[in-house]
Parts: sequence; C-alpha cells; structure tokens
Amino acid sequence: MDISALDLSQAFAQVIYFLVYQLGMALAAPLMLRSELYWVYLCSGLAIAWVTWKLYLVKRADPSKGFFKTYFSKDIWWHPSAKTDYRFYLLNAVLMAGITSQFWLTDSTLGGWLDIVFGAQPVSGSAASVTDTEQSGWVAKAVFTVLFFIAYDFGRFVAHSLLHDVPWLWEFHKVHHSAEVLTPITAFRVHPIDLMVMAWVPVLFTGLLTWVTHRWFASDVGFFTFMGFHAVVWLFNLIDHLRHWHVWVHYGPKLNNWLISPAHHQLHHSANPEHWGCNRGYELAIWDRLYGTFISPQHIQHPITLGLGDGSDDQWRSAKALFLKPFALLMKPAAPQQAQSPAPPSSNLPLQ
Ligand SMILES: [Zn+2]
Ligand SMILES: [Zn+2]
Repeated sequence: MDISALDLSQAFAQVIYFLVYQLGMALAAPLMLRSELYWVYLCSGLAIAWVTWKLYLVKRADPSKGFFKTYFSKDIWWHPSAKTDYRFYLLNAVLMAGITSQFWLTDSTLGGWLDIVFGAQPVSGSAASVTDTEQSGWVAKAVFTVLFFIAYDFGRFVAHSLLHDVPWLWEFHKVHHSAEVLTPITAFRVHPIDLMVMAWVPVLFTGLLTWVTHRWFASDVGFFTFMGFHAVVWLFNLIDHLRHWHVWVHYGPKLNNWLISPAHHQLHHSANPEHWGCNRGYELAIWDRLYGTFISPQHIQHPITLGLGDGSDDQWRSAKALFLKPFALLMKPAAPQQAQSPAPPSSNLPLQ
C-alpha cells in the first residue's frame, strides 16, 4: 500500500468514526447533562403534563380519551411530519457538528474582538469568558445573572424576529414551521442556517453585556449555573419541552402577559393567518408586546391546526426537503408568506 492510499484509508476511517460518534451522541442526548433532551427535562415536562391533566388545568381536545391516548397517540408520534423530525434530528446532528463547529461565535470571542477594536486589555486573562466563579460578590453575581438572562432572552427574540421578518431567512425558518404535529424532537427541526442565526445573534447581546461588565464593573463576575446551564434558563427548561408537544399549558390570565408558556409557542406554530408570526419570545412576553406580535393563548379555541398554512406542508416531509428546499425557494420569486409581522389581532392584550 503506498502512502497516499494509506492516507486515504485513514481519512475514510476518521470520517466513519466522526459520523458514528456524532450519531451516538445524538442518540445518547437524554443522558447528556448539557443536552436540552436531558432526561430530567423530559421527565419534568411529562410530570407537568400529567399533573395539569389530572387537575383538569388543560383543555382536553377529546374528553373520551385518557392521558396516554391523548399525548402518546400514534397519530402524533408516528405522523409523517414527526418521522421527518426524527430523521432530520440525526442528519442535523452530523451536519451541524461538521459544518459549524469551527465557526461558533461565543461571548469570549466577541469580547476578544471588542478588546481589539477598543484597545482594551483582557481582564484576568479571561477575555470576557462567563463562568460560574467563586470570586464574585453574591449581589454582583445575582444582578449579572438576571441581566444576562434578559440580554439572552432579548437576543433570542431579535434572532427569531429576523427569521420571520427577513424574507430570505424566513425560507430557512419555514423548516421549523412546516411541522404538522409537535413532539419534543420538533424543537430540533431547525435548518442549520436558522440554528446559526439563533446561536450567534444572542451572543451579540450577551457578549456585549459580559464585555462591558467585565471591563467597567467587575472583572470576574459570572452568573449562577445549575447542571451546566444558566440557573434561570435551567428553571425554564423544566417546562419548555411542552412547547413542542400537544399539551396546551399556559400560566393563566395575569402571568400569560409576562411569560411565554408552552401554549404561547404552540400558537406560534398555528396555520391560521391571524396567528402567523405571533409570540416569537422564549421566556419573557414583554418583547412581543412591545413589537406588536403578542397573542395570549387564554381564549384561543384548542386544538389548533399547525403548519405553514399555505398548503405546502406535505412538501416538507423528508429530511432531504427540509435541508434543501429553502435553497430552492430562494431561487424562486417571492410568494405571499408568513414573513410579515401580523397586524395586532383583536385578542391582543394591552401593554400594562
Ligand atoms: Zn417551535
Ligand atoms: Zn418562528
């Protein structure tokens, strides 16, 4: 065997190893502490679904059906749309690791760039990295924890709004909205371009906050973490899986105005043109209310029909279509779409 053939076989072996490793990681996600599919969050979502069902806190679409027949129905979990979600989840696990692992923008890299632009010296050699640090004062750490959460939540709202309002980005975000049924895996039905926007735009806000805080106030302040997550984000993780499941849970007439519940997000997936583009926020409802895209789920007739609402949902039922169709759509002239923010609907609640 000559040297080039040896190189080729080693490269081939490395590619196979990489693919198998990434697929293994995707399948083992419920055991991974940092994964959004970690078993604790899956179990908490299930527990909330069960308790709210038992206490009649959720609207039952069909009162004759029990808990498991309603929420674990084959019509949902084995729907062609759900099966596409599962295949795309595995494809994305490989693609995202392969394509974007070298290009992640982090708070640290943004802080480093800002140091260069403004000629500032990195503090404590940290280059504005945010970690759970022992040295910060308790109060400073608590304040930074809250500010970081607000910056992160606002950054996610801005990113999500760009995906809806910028026509060429909407073609990629359609992948997520083409889901006809929701399961926790639908959260991962996200095109790599969409994923990059959602990963990078929030960093512009959290990275800037971190950089300013570290340079002007406290060089080593970090936020409280729990099980590898920002502590507040971790708390929301306990219920956030219900966003992508047919569990119509919301927080009641008062809190619905302030926090985005699973029902708010299910309404975001509605095929009804009156709901298009509503409830783009993740945890705080204030951004949608200020932007005019807020709809409370309080008085919405449930169940709702999900999907794009343009009659094209059956064209998005393969992993290949989810990955390639946005590029094909970009080549075509624009058609009426959900990219526009909806006019404030009559059910909008006033800003308080
Ligand atoms: Zn969603
Ligand atoms: Zn959306």
